[in-house]
Amino acid sequence: MIKENGSISVNTTDIFPIIKKWLYSDKDIFLREMISNASDAITKLKRLVSLGEARLNEDERFEIRVVLDKKKKTIRIIDNGIGMTADEVKKYINQVAFSGAEEFLKKYQAQKDEASQIIGHFGLGFYSAFMVSDKVEIDTRSYIEDAEPVKWSCSGGIEYEMGPSDRTERGTTITLHIASDSKEFLDKYKLRQILEKYCAFLPTEIFLEDVEEKEKDDKPINDTDPLWLKQPSDCTEEEYKEFYRKVFLDFQDPLFWIHLNVDYPFRLKGILYFPRLRNEFETLEGRIKLYNNQVFVADNIKEVIPEFLLLLKGVIDCPDLPLNVSRSFLQNDGYVRKISDHIAKKVADKLTGMFKTERENFNKYWDDINPFIKYGCMRDDKFYGRMKDILIFKNTDGEYTLLKDYLNRNSDKHKNQVFYITDEKQQAQYIRMFKEYGLEALYMTSEIDSAFINFLEMKESGLKFNRVDSDISDVIKDKDSKAKDSKEAKETLEKLFKEALGKEDLKVEIEALKAEDTPAVILLAEQSRRMQEFSRRFGAGFSFGDIPAEESLVLNINNRLINKLVEYGDREDKKEDTALICRHVYDLAQISLRPLEPEAMTEFIRRSNLILSRLAGAES
Ligand code: ADP
Repeated sequence: MIKENGSISVNTTDIFPIIKKWLYSDKDIFLREMISNASDAITKLKRLVSLGEARLNEDERFEIRVVLDKKKKTIRIIDNGIGMTADEVKKYINQVAFSGAEEFLKKYQAQKDEASQIIGHFGLGFYSAFMVSDKVEIDTRSYIEDAEPVKWSCSGGIEYEMGPSDRTERGTTITLHIASDSKEFLDKYKLRQILEKYCAFLPTEIFLEDVEEKEKDDKPINDTDPLWLKQPSDCTEEEYKEFYRKVFLDFQDPLFWIHLNVDYPFRLKGILYFPRLRNEFETLEGRIKLYNNQVFVADNIKEVIPEFLLLLKGVIDCPDLPLNVSRSFLQNDGYVRKISDHIAKKVADKLTGMFKTERENFNKYWDDINPFIKYGCMRDDKFYGRMKDILIFKNTDGEYTLLKDYLNRNSDKHKNQVFYITDEKQQAQYIRMFKEYGLEALYMTSEIDSAFINFLEMKESGLKFNRVDSDISDVIKDKDSKAKDSKEAKETLEKLFKEALGKEDLKVEIEALKAEDTPAVILLAEQSRRMQEFSRRFGAGFSFGDIPAEESLVLNINNRLINKLVEYGDREDKKEDTALICRHVYDLAQISLRPLEPEAMTEFIRRSNLILSRLAGAES
């Protein structure tokens, strides 16, 4: 063929500096672009072969070779795919790509300020080679019989050269002459790393070679047949687990998984894993890898995958999404939203199915998956709608119950009220009391539960959550008590306690409690305690100060000791004893709620000893 020099048809001369800047932080993707072009070329040829329109050489095996030559400072990407004719090079490399470039430039100019955000899909894949090269050559020979091999080269300006190539076999070799500011890519380990990141599941075998090494790897870099492409019915449990371990380097088996396999209305394949939580303090950090026809695009693209699902681990392959996509494009794309909705729906379906048919497993997994589900409910109303009827809670009998069932069971004792426990140890005395009274409370011990409680109260009007140490007077009260909680008794007790404790603003209530042996309990008002927790958690930096939780001392008029106090009243001869009893009763109620402060503790121990000594008549 005749030698031809030309000028790339684009109206500006400064495309290359822009390409270099484009995604500067992620130069790595040049290799992904070269490899995915090579892989496409092979896929196209395979199709032609299957249609009988092209023939393979004997014993020919499809492969992509990445050949590093440190001395010559080149990386070559060699494929035995469809190749290009001279006309195709003109069309696809000189024109189409650059018309894409024009579009890119326009967009670039429009969004100059956010240039770093542009990933852009403008058919510019091939030109990403110039991010790392100062010269790029193409040697290609088309599958078409008698096609002349073509050489194209370009040194990063808008001038290119085209002429005959000495390539003899069908396929394409891209030679990148690596620029001095990109020398780090002349390193086999670096290249391997990039290939493992982006090309681990590409459909064509990829071999990495270094011309200085005699021994060649006979093992490809990639797994050409990833599990997500198989029919779910053909995959074994062990295969799912092994894939998980390999891809996410997590030595713990996942709890369960969802194999997505959609053909209509869009194509989507993938596997989503529910990871096991190692401990309750571990923050959930998932990872969803997005692929396009087995080529890795990015992790955790929240435009495609609903945000709350990013807590899971998994792979999603969407062949119809462009490989290079700008975030702003994705955000505004209805198609992308549909994908996202669909994934969320599939997850909900799986969970609902499990709830219905594998309730035991569902319960078993609940402790691990509940934070994820609750987070999803709060983030996505539709998801809440789907999950609503399968949200379960562990109760004081150690069973998992639906909120609806809990409310029905207890409607005669408390309507629309849910009592809950956030800390089994700290609230042990209250839990004991609940059990003694035949009351039922739910464990809400996950980090996310305090927010989730607020969420449920907002969603389900009339529903009210009270912690077991809060507004519970109504349910612990002995309604049939004949005890006289007279006004006088209240006044007497209030005065005694306020004086003994030196707390003028102490809130005292008199109640006939079912447990006769308990003289007093302290209750914290639910709302003010929530406010306090909120300000402790988020208040740092604000000048809220520490909002005190409103607490009240509930004295049990069904208790004999308390009655004795009423009887003594302000008798002068009993003054010392009544003060001592008041303080001790108060401390005991405190201890059931929280550890005493050091000073109060010292005082409590001293007083306990004094009481024992009096009891034994051994007072000094
Ligand atoms: P895109 O791949 O998005 O179309 P590119 O700039 O990466 O854009 O490539 C432009 C075109 O050049 C491709 O569509 C393809 O027709 C052709 N091409 C690039 N690399 C190869 C290759 N290795 N073998 C055959 N054709 C290729």
